[in-house]
Amino acid sequence: KNANGNYVVSFIEGDGIGIEISKAVKKIYAAAEVPIEWESCDVTPIIKDGNTAIPQAAIDSINKNLVALKGPLATPVGKGHRSLNLTLRKTFDLFANVRPAKSIEGYATPYENVDTVLIRENTEGEYSGIEHTVVPGVVQSIKLITREASEKVIKYAFEYARAINRKKILVVHKATIMKLSDGLFVETAKEVAKAFPDVSLDFEIIDNTALKVVTKPSQYNDVVMVMPNLYGDIMSDLASGLIGGLGLTPSGNMGDKVSIFEAVHGSAPDIAGQNKANPTALLLSSCIMLQHMGLEQYGERIQKAVLKTIASGKENRTGDLKGSASTSHFTEQVIKNLE
Ligand code: NAD
Repeated sequence: KNANGNYVVSFIEGDGIGIEISKAVKKIYAAAEVPIEWESCDVTPIIKDGNTAIPQAAIDSINKNLVALKGPLATPVGKGHRSLNLTLRKTFDLFANVRPAKSIEGYATPYENVDTVLIRENTEGEYSGIEHTVVPGVVQSIKLITREASEKVIKYAFEYARAINRKKILVVHKATIMKLSDGLFVETAKEVAKAFPDVSLDFEIIDNTALKVVTKPSQYNDVVMVMPNLYGDIMSDLASGLIGGLGLTPSGNMGDKVSIFEAVHGSAPDIAGQNKANPTALLLSSCIMLQHMGLEQYGERIQKAVLKTIASGKENRTGDLKGSASTSHFTEQVIKNLE
């Protein structure tokens, strides 16, 4: 908290529609009188020692405030740039990616009553970037799994389950084939579970989970799923698809110290600057942030207003939800619906 009694949060507005949806979030937060002051944070990459890096001022801001909200960043095309999102994850060791997917009332999809919570290991697995050519025509890619990173993300999953009052952890894996790597993840889960006697532990093979989740997603409504990086990447997008797409899905990147909350979608260059973007995913990400900060009463209020606005008819929904509202009209309606 600062001298005014407010929490200071770093805000990476982002590129493209990031500018418009960030503005919407700020307006709604001001109207809801959330005790937060935003510290604008420019992460336009610099090259440091030949690598993509984040400007020191941005690193200092996030390290000081410990919490950041982030709009989408356009990854510059061309060699020499590592994805800025990956750089952020590495810089702050954001080891767990939390992705809830909850049906949005008033926006029907073929699936009803979806309420999945998935936690993805965020730092290793197939994303370790260790690939090489053995001989021309034969390449090898290393899937790196460590006990340390597995333990961190699984422990976080247990803590998160407690925080949101779910009683079961489901480890999703393929240890039947990847006996050593996924096997280590599974064994680590069994170890970690000993410290959480109030939460039960179950296991499922990833292909079976994929089948079951698209058959009847609601059977996962009482568990927190946790899985290695690549499985989590794919399964979390699959879960987003069940509720109507990436434009609606929030996420949090969690570290020991720092957490960065962000919408799952990109900078949408096709509609940027046209007052058409849907700020819902960034707003819902900010609600997870408020929960993390112990300000959940504000988060619940904002979330309710957002969902009420979406459910209130086409004229109040943005184009991605087959509506006709502009970003600013949607924002005004959310403010009206704050109770
Ligand atoms: P995208 O998510 O930006 O867009 C895909 C489609 O979804 C577009 O038609 C877009 O108009 C629509 N869309 C996305 N978000 C929307 C919203 N909030 N409201 C309404 N419509 C929305 O994906 P892309 O086109 O593949 O990527 C564009 C840029 O974003 C690239 O530079 C990419 O690297 C970057 N990106 C960044 C992140 C991130 O920062 N986390 C994630 C994905 C992509």
